Amino acid sequence: MTDCGCDKARADLEEYLRNEICRTEQGDIREHLDNCPSCQDEALVARTLTDAVQRACKEAAPEDVRSKVLASIRAAQATH
Ligand SMILES: [Zn+2]
Repeated sequence: MTDCGCDKARADLEEYLRNEICRTEQGDIREHLDNCPSCQDEALVARTLTDAVQRACKEAAPEDVRSKVLASIRAAQATH
């Protein structure tokens, strides 16, 4: 794979989804996602994970929920 900025985009992805990074970085990541299908997949996973953890964290330990959700997403992707 060429160095298209994937490492940087993925490192910042969860913060990006929680709107915790600065405006300039958000623009960079959004632009990268627009042009990079593999990072779009990763963003979808991370967004689903972030949403699920936020919804579920009242009921269970966040790390526990997080690992279960991530496992189920990965399993769903593996069947494609
Ligand atoms: Zn990428």
